Order: sequence, then structure tokens, then C-alpha cells
Amino acid sequence: MTKKLVVGNMKMNLTLDEVKDYISKMQDYKDCVICPSYLYLPYFIDADFLVGAQNLSLYEKGAYTGEVSAIQASSIGVDYAIIGHSERRLFIHEDDLIVNAKVKRALSSKLKVILCVGETREEKNLGITKDKIEKQLLDDLVDIPKEDISDVLIAYEPIWAIGTGEVPLNEEIHDIVSFIKKTVKKEFHYTPKVLYGGSTNEKNIEELNTIDNVDGFLVGGACLVPDKFIKIIETVK
Ligand code: PEP
Repeated sequence: MTKKLVVGNMKMNLTLDEVKDYISKMQDYKDCVICPSYLYLPYFIDADFLVGAQNLSLYEKGAYTGEVSAIQASSIGVDYAIIGHSERRLFIHEDDLIVNAKVKRALSSKLKVILCVGETREEKNLGITKDKIEKQLLDDLVDIPKEDISDVLIAYEPIWAIGTGEVPLNEEIHDIVSFIKKTVKKEFHYTPKVLYGGSTNEKNIEELNTIDNVDGFLVGGACLVPDKFIKIIETVK
């Protein structure tokens, strides 16, 4: 079995002093991907971590004040890009058209994509989780070069589980992860790696890590505290 991937999404957290302290505490645990704010990417790169951007511009280059392009991220040594995180879909109103454009930009700059999909609590209650996820997958991956699909990882992140302390049952995660793999395989003849994300922490990681079709974890809150994140990395490896 190939190694599972642990990705830390730091979101808009930490000051420079906190980042320096974090890096010093994580010296022996670089077996992960860290996605800090853009500002701190060079610090993690210089310290030999694998890193990901939390977002990318949908534009190639030019007069787009405040944006950061895939080409720029790639040029400083960024390895991955999280695209379509639910917080961006919700707060920044990114729709599937925008997400698709960003996926294409990332792939054309040779970045690996972590594409986030997942249902709201309401959609779960209505029993339309799979419809929602199928639509996101098909729309977000439309017209991407078929040969690039192996650079796309999918993160299954139920929106109701993000930052709430609530986690789906293992069987529910297994079922959706299997659905995601089948849906992508049908379209691209390739079975993608699928991460689980949503309130993964140092207490539930042992249980979550028993789900046999999950290829890794996208961790938010718990990645900010080295001791907690180290426990997750150690459990998964
Ligand atoms: C996330 O936002 O990608 C995430 C998984 O957050 P948390 O672990 O805090 O639920």
C-alpha cells in the first residue's frame, strides 16, 4: 500500500514568531504537507517542508492586485494547491466555474491539486450528498487534460464536519470515498487518491485511520498545534 498523505491547512492563522516556533518544533516531522498563508511559504520551503498554497488566482498573470498565480507559486517551490475549499466557496463565492479554472491553472504549472468537495448539513439531511459531490467533481474537473488527472487528489470534506468537532461514521466516509473514486474513474479511467477532512484530531485519528479506502487526511485546526499534528502524522505513517 502506498503511503498516506497528511496535509495541514493552516488557514489565516499564526504570526511570524509563531511560524518560526512551529518550524522548530516540527523538525523531525516533515513527513507531511503544510499549507500556510502565502506569506509564510518561503519559511517552510527553506526549512525543507513540502508545501501547498491554500488558493491560487484563476488568472495567469498581470493586473490583478492582491492575487497570487500558479506560475508564481510554482516558481518558489510550492508543491500542492488546495482548490475549492468550502470556506472559499462560501465566503468568497467561488463557484465551480472558478474552481475549474483554478484547477487548470495549477495543473498547467505542474502543481498537484487538492480539490475539496463535500456536502452541507442540509444536503446530507436531504439525502443528496452524492448528487452534490458528483456535480462538483464533474464541473470542477471538466476539460482538464486527461494525462494530468494523476496530479489531482480529492479531499472529501463534509462542510458540517469542518471545525465543528463532528465527524461522519467511518462507514459513511468509506461509502462517499468509494463513490468519489468510482465517479472519477468512470470519467478519467483513473482512480484518484482521496483524503478525508473535517475535525480530524489527535483523539479520533486512530479510529479514522482504520478506514481502508482513505489515502490520507486534510487537517485544519489540529495542524496548528505541533503536538496534536505530530500525533496525527505518527498515527498515519
Ligand atoms: C479544513 O478546513 O480543511 C479542515 C479539515 O478543518 P478542520 O480540521 O478544522 O475541521
